[in-house]
Amino acid sequence: MQKQDSTRIKKEDKVKIIAGKDRGKIGKVIRVDKKKNRLLVEKANMIKRHVKPSMKNPQGGIMEAEGPIHWSNVMIICSNCVKPARIRVKTLDSGEKARICSKCNETMDSK
Ligand SMILES: [Zn+2]
Repeated sequence: MQKQDSTRIKKEDKVKIIAGKDRGKIGKVIRVDKKKNRLLVEKANMIKRHVKPSMKNPQGGIMEAEGPIHWSNVMIICSNCVKPARIRVKTLDSGEKARICSKCNETMDSK
């Protein structure tokens, strides 16, 4: 059985959210927390945060920010076929690891 792990998702990847209140939404990964297996996706899972007054924001108040999403609640969108896909990791002859899309069998890192 193929196991998908959070390390296969990188910053700047496009992902589709498959669980929670933002199910179906597609966004760009803006941060990956490998220790907690969570990621932040642009404009997804927004949470309200209380902010103390600061130089930048002298009023303080409530700010919306992206909340962490567990990696198992997203699917990566392949940059080749633009479909939500599973990823296989293949070690190339050069020793480099490439992420392969399960749908189109193309590497997702050749850019
Ligand atoms: Zn693909």
